[in-house]
Amino acid sequence: MSVIDQLVAGHHRFRDGYYQENRERLVDLARQGQSPRVAVVACCDSRVDPAVITDSNPGDIFVIRNVANLIPPCEGKGTWHGTSAALQFAVCGLNVEHIIVLGHARCGGIRALLEGEQQGEEGNFIADWMSIAAAARDHALSRADLDDFEARILACEREAIGISLNNLMTFQWIRERVEAGELELHGWYYDMDTGILSRLDTQSRDFVAL
Ligand SMILES: [Zn+2]
Repeated sequence: MSVIDQLVAGHHRFRDGYYQENRERLVDLARQGQSPRVAVVACCDSRVDPAVITDSNPGDIFVIRNVANLIPPCEGKGTWHGTSAALQFAVCGLNVEHIIVLGHARCGGIRALLEGEQQGEEGNFIADWMSIAAAARDHALSRADLDDFEARILACEREAIGISLNNLMTFQWIRERVEAGELELHGWYYDMDTGILSRLDTQSRDFVAL
């Protein structure tokens, strides 16, 4: 069976199983529109599915995925801001009450950043995108308390979450809602080796298991 046939077979199982069992709720959702209370910014990594690791159902979470779950700073120039557009829809269109930046272990984007793929090369979209987290890379590489490369990657994965949380506040419509107490920002980290999610404690700057 080809990989596409496997997906089609999976879809048939979904249609006969999950869809039938939840038909009323799914049809209501379709007709009434979505009203998720949480937006999650996650990595494209196929091993980190926000709905799976939070056991969420369709309609529960508005998911934005990009390489290494990064939030760019708000920029006036430029044309194609996929992540910023999705955030604007989640915040201004759907009025979500929470935004979670969901980082993860063994992130290929963060590894590429630390291995020094060149920014500014024609067509190197990943390096240009990952430069959002350049300060996290520089800090992870300069830390004297980290002696191995894997530890630096882990430190960078976690620090990049903080950069994205700071960048969220550069969008006026996010900052205003956060300051008014209508929107809360969260940094989460998923360790796929242990299956444990942890959250960034803004006081201690440490990650605490959930
Ligand atoms: Zn990743």
